[in-house]
Amino acid sequence: MRFEVCYSPGISLEELLHVVHDYHVLVFRGRLRIGREVIDRAVNLKVLARYGIGLDNVDVEYAIRKGIAVVNAPKASAISVAELTIALMLMVFRRLYSLVHEVKEGGWPKGKYIGRELYGKTLGVVGFGNIGSRVARYASALGMKVLVYDIRNVSQEVVEIGGRQVEFEELLSRADVVSLHVPLTPLTWCMINDKTLSLMRDGSVLVNTSRGEVIDTYALLKHVDRLGGVALDVLEQEPPKDECLWKLVRHPKVIVTPHIGAETEEAMDRIAEELAKNIAEAVKWV
Ligand code: NAD
Repeated sequence: MRFEVCYSPGISLEELLHVVHDYHVLVFRGRLRIGREVIDRAVNLKVLARYGIGLDNVDVEYAIRKGIAVVNAPKASAISVAELTIALMLMVFRRLYSLVHEVKEGGWPKGKYIGRELYGKTLGVVGFGNIGSRVARYASALGMKVLVYDIRNVSQEVVEIGGRQVEFEELLSRADVVSLHVPLTPLTWCMINDKTLSLMRDGSVLVNTSRGEVIDTYALLKHVDRLGGVALDVLEQEPPKDECLWKLVRHPKVIVTPHIGAETEEAMDRIAEELAKNIAEAVKWV
């Protein structure tokens, strides 16, 4: 199958609206919202293809109603995101950001930042899908105890890695680290809020490599001082502009990476391959 390809990585929504009628397949990432406005103008479109996971920026139901197939690459980046999650936990527990920064500034802060081991600590995994289950396995190999919360019954798989599926409240109140791996849905929107943050123990750590909107930023700002640390690869606004979000990003207990969970050579190759296969399959049917 041969495609003629037009590559416009920085295209604006306005520009897209002007040209989208020319295309049979639209490949996009998370920056633009592919809603009714785009879909209504896309009169020749057969396939909407999200480069990566997460279809939260697409009106999937409307697209399907219009006869447009929606595909993504759901499994391709799981290893990279899971590895980043473990790296973020280690960064917080060993205070690596401060140590590396001070040495670069000419300091030698030996003895200033005493870290903690992950070994023996309890990890709470929220969402036991492709990424969460991997994080749980890696953490278990590092000697962490694993608690899992998921709306599906995954207790058998969790037991196999020596963990336990529990209710959300129990996970929050017992975990030394809470790591978020749920999709963004109406049920997960702000599931980390003032009430649920209140259940987290003083000194516990929050890691989010899922979607920024899963956390209520204002509530997190209120609780951050009593937490042991916060590591975020995703924000509700990327890049952050809102003053409240900036306060969080600059907070000494918070480290933020710019949504790079899937940005490894291996994951990007895998996403491209998986997506190309899914597009080729989809155009046969629509
Ligand atoms: P997945 O669909 O494989 O797993 C999600 C899990 O969450 C499932 O087990 C599901 O049952 C569970 N879940 C759904 N709603 C829930 C709820 N209300 N409460 C508890 N559990 C719930 O998804 P995945 O591939 O593991 O991706 C997880 C997250 O990571 C998504 O938000 C995705 O967008 C994000 N992601 C981020 C990056 C990045 O660059 N940081 C890259 C890829 C994916």
